[in-house]
Amino acid sequence: MNPRQIIEKKRDGGILTAEEIEYFVQAYTSSEIADYQAAALLMAICLRGMITHELMALTRAMRDSGDILDLSSIPGKKIDKHSTGGVGDKTSLVVAPIAAACGVTVPKITGRALGHTGGTLDKLQSIPGFDPKPTTDRILSLLSQHGAVLMGQSETLVPADRRLYALRDATATVESIALITSSILSKKFAENIDGLVLDVKTGSGALMPSKKLSMQLGRSIAGVCRKMKVGVVVLITDMEQPLGRAVGNALEVKECIDFLNGTAPEDLKTLALALAAEMIRLDGRVKTQREAERMASEAVSTGKARQRFLDIIAGQGGDIQTIENPDLLPKAKNVMAVEAKRSGVVVRADAKLLGRAANALGAGRLRTDDRIDPAVGLYLHKKTGERVERGETLCDVHWNDAIRLLDAIPLVEQAFEIGSRAGRRRPLIHAVLRG
Ligand code: URA
Repeated sequence: MNPRQIIEKKRDGGILTAEEIEYFVQAYTSSEIADYQAAALLMAICLRGMITHELMALTRAMRDSGDILDLSSIPGKKIDKHSTGGVGDKTSLVVAPIAAACGVTVPKITGRALGHTGGTLDKLQSIPGFDPKPTTDRILSLLSQHGAVLMGQSETLVPADRRLYALRDATATVESIALITSSILSKKFAENIDGLVLDVKTGSGALMPSKKLSMQLGRSIAGVCRKMKVGVVVLITDMEQPLGRAVGNALEVKECIDFLNGTAPEDLKTLALALAAEMIRLDGRVKTQREAERMASEAVSTGKARQRFLDIIAGQGGDIQTIENPDLLPKAKNVMAVEAKRSGVVVRADAKLLGRAANALGAGRLRTDDRIDPAVGLYLHKKTGERVERGETLCDVHWNDAIRLLDAIPLVEQAFEIGSRAGRRRPLIHAVLRG
């Protein structure tokens, strides 16, 4: 086959065959096809899109570029939850133990922070000793002991995505529904799951800022899952402002511990319980969403989810003293309050700007090899719709480096807007698409 002809076909709006797609992915992964040709095909896909058959072939070819996790020795369905990424989006940390405490098996492969969004793996690594890369034997034993494992992507899982994602990042082809669908699902299918609960974020801090695009992405992912016989539920959820009040790795872990101890910001609690309930339903344990939500809620109120979180963290080498006493988590040396310049109602706490501010402090990374400072971040005392008086704290900035602080403060100030009265409230859950 000829890579140039494949590029030309897609450029002119043609439909690629499964063989053409398989050949291209295989040859690119083994470096037979150069970056410039792969970049050209990515741009053609970005502009022309793909039909479901092409998407399935691309997802399969990417999945098959590396190892596939063999979970056949673990009985029952394996259900994962994935988010397209947001600011303060810490739900994976609590959803996995809640679902596991309700009997669901959760083999969760999770990512690192990139751009203005956070990553579950970086949050977990603010717990001293936590091992993000257990061996396959260990994964199997953790799953059978605790029902959940929270792990980073191994070098051998979907290598095609690792290479293609880096290329997409450099060629302005990240924001393609077809490419996002195949990137997410190739990794999920390599985990050999039976069901997926996908949280597609929408709003300023999301990969897809508009609801229309988020719905398109949700439908695309649900369509491929259906054809591949993987159960799926997609929630389109709000990311116009951060989820919860904490943004930054250790701060977010602390907020999750508070949640499992029974105190949580309402939006975090509502979304985490909804996502966990969908996992319980996909597993087939209960029929109705109400029953599933009651189960999830009871797992938190009875302390079972907290115990499961301790078991998962301890099982992966994390120091559980930091969970018992979150004051032992990494702490920034300084905290600076950003105050309201006028009285009124907060009408905007912009997720993207706040994510960029946390990043500027060192909570995230702009390049894949940047080092993270687990202690720094933001704590929002006020969120959209809340009343604030002049001089009251809008947000605490937890910082370690004065130069970084200078970059972060204008972003925080720009993120907040105070008006005379509350604007229209955006729903937390915009839509639910079931497979
Ligand atoms: N997350 C992924 O894993 N891939 C994408 O392309 C976008 C978000």
